[in-house]
Amino acid sequence: MFVVMTVGASEAEILGVKSRILAEGLTPFDHVGAERTVIAVVGEIGTRRPALLEQFGRLPGVASVTPISRPYKLTSREFHPEDTVIRVLDAVIGDGSLTVMAGPCSIESKEQLFETADAVKAAGATILRGGAFKPRTSPYSFQGLGIQGLRYLAEARERTGLPVITEVMESNQVDIVAEYADILQIGTRNMQNYSLLRDVGRVARPVMLKRGYGATVEEWLMAAEYIVSSGNPNVILCERGIRTFETYTRNTMDLAAVPLVNRLAHLPVIVDPSHATGKRWLVKPLALGGVAVGADGIMVEVHPHPDEALSDAEQQLDFAGFRDMMVALIPVHEHVRGLYGSGA
Ligand code: PEP
Ligand code: MN
Repeated sequence: MFVVMTVGASEAEILGVKSRILAEGLTPFDHVGAERTVIAVVGEIGTRRPALLEQFGRLPGVASVTPISRPYKLTSREFHPEDTVIRVLDAVIGDGSLTVMAGPCSIESKEQLFETADAVKAAGATILRGGAFKPRTSPYSFQGLGIQGLRYLAEARERTGLPVITEVMESNQVDIVAEYADILQIGTRNMQNYSLLRDVGRVARPVMLKRGYGATVEEWLMAAEYIVSSGNPNVILCERGIRTFETYTRNTMDLAAVPLVNRLAHLPVIVDPSHATGKRWLVKPLALGGVAVGADGIMVEVHPHPDEALSDAEQQLDFAGFRDMMVALIPVHEHVRGLYGSGA
């Protein structure tokens, strides 16, 4: 449920409501809107609901108390109607601008990363990606450069000014990855790793949460709820394809999930057509499709010589392919900008 304070409710009244919530063994989360403060009440409410609705409704400064119908509370539009906007260095995500995260699947060497960083920046990327710790299907495949990769990523940020995003696979890597990276990525295989979600919820870095390849939209939003309820409101959702019976593509990109999630939740949404399709020539059309249905941006893999890449060779764009996609994408974004409004 959430408690809507009256316009002009005093600090003392807001504190009074929060301490009542705490006294019930529940947790208050404020959302300071343009006009008034709304306080979400989260925790195991169970059969106490009618009594609590009444009790909180009688407190000074309270305008109304409303149940939240969805199981995800802090993530829902019901509680937080405005879009969440995330700022990281000079990049702004979710404000209507086009976010373009680009870079290699894996960081393979300093030269490979720097060359890619320069090329994607020149073509309009706003965030640099690169995997240092790689979740590979086979234990015999290249597992990434680890901490050395993180160092190269931080150097590439110095060089280009672009914020950097990289995956964190385990709880014991959260601190070190947060030391080097500006945005932490949770991969599809870890979307329901609840202890990891809680741990990234405690750091002061935005988190991009990829959709589990077997997860429903509701499970994905519940995973986001773990991060937000652990104290980190800066979550970006990433649709990266789900597993279906289709075999011609690596995954099936769920385009409907984009407007759906935009309606249900207030978090920015990114699409990743590289992992969704697994095929280089499908990246451009699906990037355009994702932005056309209202995504805040894309994440794509780019490599100086894709055929020689140590991971995901078939889906990485070369520099010319990335530029060609950007030239097509920018007008699509301009065309749909503002078309759907918030929440649709
Ligand atoms: C990635 O982006 O490097 C990655 C491994 O993606 P996913 O978790 O979506 O497979
Ligand atoms: Mn990859």
